[in-house]
Amino acid sequence: MADIQGSPAPGTNDTTHDGPTGPTGPGQPLRTETIAPGVFAFIQGDGSWGWSNAGLVASRGEALLVDTFYTLPLTRRLRAAVAEAAPDARVTTVVNTHLNGDHCHGNQLFPDAEIITSDANAAGIDHEVPPALYPQLQQNPPAGPAGEYFTHHFGHFDFSGIEFTPPTRTFRDRLDLRVGDLDVELLNVGPAHTGGDVVVHVPEASTVFLGDILFQDDHPVVWAGPVLAWADACDRLIATGARTFVPGHGRLAGPADLARFRDYLRHVHEEAARAAAAGVPLATAARAIPLDAYADWPLSERVVATVAAVYREVGAPAPAAPLELLTMMAEIAAERGARPSGSGRLPHQGRATHEDAREPGAARGDTAE
Ligand SMILES: [Zn+2]
Repeated sequence: MADIQGSPAPGTNDTTHDGPTGPTGPGQPLRTETIAPGVFAFIQGDGSWGWSNAGLVASRGEALLVDTFYTLPLTRRLRAAVAEAAPDARVTTVVNTHLNGDHCHGNQLFPDAEIITSDANAAGIDHEVPPALYPQLQQNPPAGPAGEYFTHHFGHFDFSGIEFTPPTRTFRDRLDLRVGDLDVELLNVGPAHTGGDVVVHVPEASTVFLGDILFQDDHPVVWAGPVLAWADACDRLIATGARTFVPGHGRLAGPADLARFRDYLRHVHEEAARAAAAGVPLATAARAIPLDAYADWPLSERVVATVAAVYREVGAPAPAAPLELLTMMAEIAAERGARPSGSGRLPHQGRATHEDAREPGAARGDTAE
């Protein structure tokens, strides 16, 4: 259970699944954390690009899974971890917090489950990167920093076989469910990270699964905004009184972590709005915003997406398309000489194994579990 400082202690029956997951090298481990009886988090590695988390609420033979993973091999490994955590439960419901691929590409591996998300997420599906584009970009990356960045962060995922499997049920603002003996509240707190971000509150466990409303120890990616609405959503979630927040990426969090993240959003908004009002071009503003207070977070190039969201809000010129924003991030990362975490490195939870040490190209596909 989480302590009152909001730094949850690991559960007693935690397990780690190691193993390679992609065609070009080793992947990151998957760790199961027990938050409360029947309530689990599945944490992937350091939470860098594509290494997302999932959650499980299981009671009386039923289970609700919060998000699937980026690829089929990763989701098979998740399925094995779910079976280990709750051997008597059947996943009857999958909730997609949003429809970025790292939270829904594995939906097809739960063919009997009802798949739930918000109306706004379902309506925004046309803005997502289609699964088939990833292998194309792996084979033919764009020239220059954009291609290098893509290959560095996304080249090691095995995107084969993904058939996008859309949600089967949607809701607007709130949906109350019961899983066995546990009440579960689905809340649409978007638009924020995307158009209709869903969080999953389990009051009895004092836990909220946040999806990408929280990037723990990392600069967030803002695909939608408004940025201040995202910050307000953080306040609303802190006000639930929950002690444990499961981020979409990174380690388990508490209220203090969510507050620090909210402050980051407000800080970047203030700086970006001032720059936009002064007529500073987006690319210049993104490079100049002071981020010293967050120097411990990698992937600082992502700030350009946050600044772009603020610029769009105030009517200043800025792109919205994910690939355009990724290109701008890549250029900044190249200037900063950033070769940040990702692709098989584990700065926070180093646990060397035979699998982690395998040669690039020695992937064993989906047998990681
Ligand atoms: Zn994500």
